[in-house]
Amino acid sequence: MDVEKKTLKMKCESCENDFILTFHTVKCPKCGIAFNTDEVHEIFYNYESRLANSKLYQHSQRMQKSGERLEKTGETISQIGCLLFMLPIGLLCLWFIISMF
Ligand SMILES: [Zn+2]
Repeated sequence: MDVEKKTLKMKCESCENDFILTFHTVKCPKCGIAFNTDEVHEIFYNYESRLANSKLYQHSQRMQKSGERLEKTGETISQIGCLLFMLPIGLLCLWFIISMF
């Protein structure tokens, strides 16, 4: 997860306007009050760890992994399918070779 690409909806404590906070936000886009960048970064770090610990996020990560596994299984099946398809052709070739003698 890249917190630097995340955006969070925030309310400015100074002007009480909603705005989109980015990792690199240094001041309020509405009233221009300067933010402490360390505090801003901390919000994102907290957000990241909260997200990482949430059940839904862990579940989605697990789903992703099982999805990859399914993909691999799919590959194996298609390889087997290819083999089964090639086998009669191979046998046919073999039969031709044998029948030539
Ligand atoms: Zn403001």
